[in-house]
Amino acid sequence: MVKAMLTNDSKYNGQFYVGVHSTGIYCLPSCKAKKPKLENVVFYPTREEAIAAGLRGCKRCKSEKFPDVLPEWLHSVLKFMRANRTERLNEDKLIHLSGVDISTVRRYFKSHLQITPLSFHRRLRLSYARELLESGQDYLSAAYESGYESASGFQEAFLRQFGQPPGRYYAKKHNGVS
Ligand SMILES: [Zn+2]
Repeated sequence: MVKAMLTNDSKYNGQFYVGVHSTGIYCLPSCKAKKPKLENVVFYPTREEAIAAGLRGCKRCKSEKFPDVLPEWLHSVLKFMRANRTERLNEDKLIHLSGVDISTVRRYFKSHLQITPLSFHRRLRLSYARELLESGQDYLSAAYESGYESASGFQEAFLRQFGQPPGRYYAKKHNGVS
């Protein structure tokens, strides 16, 4: 991905997005803008994940329009998901936020992200928990802060999402293993 980005390889457009956290923008791999420092770069598999991480499209490479134009309603949904990643979300709330039919929302997530909108939100929530663990927070407070009421519920959801128990991330940090 680094190589594709550094060589402006347009073959990879749409396969991943380059998030630049120093400028708050996400780009296509082929973007001709000045290359960001690697320490500020996070790669995202989809635009939706880049947007949910708080980034906006690039005017130069028009990343927001590739491979297609994002529906207007999606922005309010992603913005809400980002701001409320530890809260419970349901489909009624999605209808209210998007102002469109729930089947439109479901269909969009299924075809662009291969998951349901509620699963996408859960993944944001668990990614947040993983960040907390990686920053050195202990297991129980990471579970609590990411909105889980029981340790076993957290453990199970985390394992299902990442294929590794939460303790693994915590241990990595604390044993200095990378
Ligand atoms: Zn760009």
